[in-house]
Amino acid sequence: MSDTSLPPPELGEPYLLTPGPLTTSYAVKQAMLKDWGSWDSDFRDMTRDMRSKLLALIGDGASEYDCVPIQGSGSYAVEAMLGSFVPKEGKVLVLANGAYGLRAAQTLDYLGRAYHLLDKGDYLPPSGSEVAQILSNDPAISHVLAIHCETSSGILNPIEDIAAATRAAGRTLLIDSMSAFGALPLNPKALGCAAFVSSANKCIEGVPGFGFVIARIDDIKAAKGNSHSLSLDVHAQWATMEKTGQWRFTPPTHTIAAFMHALELHAAEGGVAARGARYAKNRDVIVRGLRDIGFETLLDDRWLSPIIVTFFCPADPNFTFQGFYDAMKKRGFIIYPGKLTVVDSFRIGVIGQMDEHVMRRVVDAARDALTDVNVSSAAPPAAALEERKKLAA
Ligand SMILES: *Cc1c(COP(=O)(O)O)cnc(C)c1O
Repeated sequence: MSDTSLPPPELGEPYLLTPGPLTTSYAVKQAMLKDWGSWDSDFRDMTRDMRSKLLALIGDGASEYDCVPIQGSGSYAVEAMLGSFVPKEGKVLVLANGAYGLRAAQTLDYLGRAYHLLDKGDYLPPSGSEVAQILSNDPAISHVLAIHCETSSGILNPIEDIAAATRAAGRTLLIDSMSAFGALPLNPKALGCAAFVSSANKCIEGVPGFGFVIARIDDIKAAKGNSHSLSLDVHAQWATMEKTGQWRFTPPTHTIAAFMHALELHAAEGGVAARGARYAKNRDVIVRGLRDIGFETLLDDRWLSPIIVTFFCPADPNFTFQGFYDAMKKRGFIIYPGKLTVVDSFRIGVIGQMDEHVMRRVVDAARDALTDVNVSSAAPPAAALEERKKLAA
């Protein structure tokens, strides 16, 4: 990590072990101490620079794609992508295994676009063969929406298998790579992906305020007039930026300035590969350390993303999420509740300005926190282990 990035405890803040907003460097926060005129050429230059730096992260094929930032949180960008690229008479196969897949389906309900929902439950991965089967059964399906890393369980979905099945069936792939882009390689050209989305406050380690769509230029042009929404119209935002260099409506200027600094830190660290390696190391330290204490992960190693990890809550009746949360917070770490419907769980995010040394302190804090709340064994209930067997089946 950069020398200019003081870890938050020096500021008296806890680390955010969450999937975003996350712990950002001091320098990123400092970059916000200036006001920018949205019309001014300095700010327009910054926007142009940001778009091209983001495009540079997708590898070869960047010349066929463009980057369109959208104000709002990540869900606004998902909605912008779906409303702009799925034609009114289109139909989407939504691959869901958690909250974000289901949110995409709900978004399509609002947009009045038809969809087929493959709901795999809390975490089971959708397979390429299932996608192939559904696409061959239903010729009306025009698009497939996949979630790259489903942040609600932390599962890394088999995006290449899904892309191959979608390509083979001649359909159009859209990806929600919100929590993966910047740390995991994503080459939309190689995947045959028309558009994907991510946001400022995930793996690039900026502060919240906007998302961005990276889409094939031909598809952006073809999206003209398709959006249900004025403010979420990807084509209109792109056309204005191309013509004037400006955002159509008030841009989150400070967030963008911070993001520019976050992009510099990302490059200085060594880009996508280095960031992914740091996060993978974070995950390995926390998983090994918490397993040593007796905790168990929801997922087998093969499905564990370097983004966020779900652990089962211990069976010990003294354990409550809130009690454990408070004991962790007292030690400088904010953890995240779980999102499983069947058994209780909590999540530890491994993204943000933290490294393996911080993660070792998290493990120590978890051990002490268990003592605080009088829990002697971190072992999960039998039902949790039963649940996990589903993955092997
Ligand atoms: C964070 C995230 C989103 C967007 O969530 P917002 O709260 O709207 O920023 C969408 N999809 C995934 C997979 C995410 O991790």
